[in-house]
Amino acid sequence: MLERARILDAGDPLKDYRERFSVPEGVIYLDGNSLGCLPKATPGRLEQVVREEWGEGLIRSWNAAGWIELPTRIGAKIAPLIGAQPDEVIACDSTSVNLFKLISAALAMRPGRKVVLSEPGNFPTDLYMVDGLEKQGLATRRLAPRERIAEALDEDVALLMLTHVHYKSGAIFDMAALTKAAHEKGALVLWDLSHSGGALPVDLDACEADFAVGCGYKYLNGGPGAPAYAFVAERHLAAAQQPLTGWMGHAAPFAFSDDYAPAPGIEQVLCGTPPILGLAALEVGVDLVAEIGVERLYAKSQALSEFFRQCLSERGVDLDLVSPTEPDQCGSQLSFRHPDAYAICQALIARGVIGDFRDPDILRFGFAPAYLRFEDMAEAARHFAEVLESGEWQRDEFRERAAVT
Ligand SMILES: *Cc1c(COP(=O)(O)O)cnc(C)c1O
Repeated sequence: MLERARILDAGDPLKDYRERFSVPEGVIYLDGNSLGCLPKATPGRLEQVVREEWGEGLIRSWNAAGWIELPTRIGAKIAPLIGAQPDEVIACDSTSVNLFKLISAALAMRPGRKVVLSEPGNFPTDLYMVDGLEKQGLATRRLAPRERIAEALDEDVALLMLTHVHYKSGAIFDMAALTKAAHEKGALVLWDLSHSGGALPVDLDACEADFAVGCGYKYLNGGPGAPAYAFVAERHLAAAQQPLTGWMGHAAPFAFSDDYAPAPGIEQVLCGTPPILGLAALEVGVDLVAEIGVERLYAKSQALSEFFRQCLSERGVDLDLVSPTEPDQCGSQLSFRHPDAYAICQALIARGVIGDFRDPDILRFGFAPAYLRFEDMAEAARHFAEVLESGEWQRDEFRERAAVT
């Protein structure tokens, strides 16, 4: 297995990119879908922003170092990764906050309709943001299982809000078909790309998507709590109004007017002053993903997950796979169900194989292909088999739950 892995690694067109990331010794990192690895260029860039741009340039750096343009500059770099135009994307705030802004904007564009349709088991924050709007009387939440989403679309639905690649199972929604189905009923569509952006090719404009949000700290390697991004289709930029009408979304923030007037473009999605350190780190991660290219990244992550499954099966590990088995229907991850998923995950982490656990019984392994080798798959499968065979996961220490799982 290791032999075969090494042959695959030698022929891997992305093999040199591993060197561009800090991957700790002795760690097989299968959690890049939760927090991407540190690009080696990030500390130097942050040092420069802190010491030169902040320390020396001070307030002048808003112009001289281009700080004020960072949200749109990074947005324009994310755009081609998700099939958008450069002026349709902006990097700002968290995914949760951007959801609030764009769900609200969509509801206001469909007067007389209040329903936001989603699926049960969508990422919690997506559903909670709709709850918050419901408590204010602005939205009605409707959930339908993924097979019945199209049936649940009717003339009451203002917005269809879905996560493109499911965070637990990795299952991919048919973005083009569902967007079309929603539009046929007069509804708008918002896609959460947190597990898609930087992991697989997405074509928002070709699918005629209306809105999208996505995360900066997963496949974009922007660092813990990195700013997220928001997409508004060009045709909606004039009509959409998001409710967090902060001064940075104003048409002329430095006119210091008493009255709000939205910026005509995607800048309207901004609220307050952008976090420059976070954006500077995010830009390094985005540049690296753009350099490698999402097509190549997805092709390799598919090959890695296929190889991981083969290695598991050759070692006789037969677990309940909850991810789709058709490669083109699954994102860059594999998830397995096991009643002792938490303890097994902890036992693997103790061996340096870092995947994660998702309540109540899911073991999730992400394949961020820029820094993973086929050799890592073979080794991770060996550890997995050994943890199960030895029963070492049954030790007490592996059952204690930490605050973040
Ligand atoms: C990770 C993730 C988020 C994260 O939202 P934050 O506001 O950054 O905490 C949102 N939605 C999905 C689908 C995610 O996977």
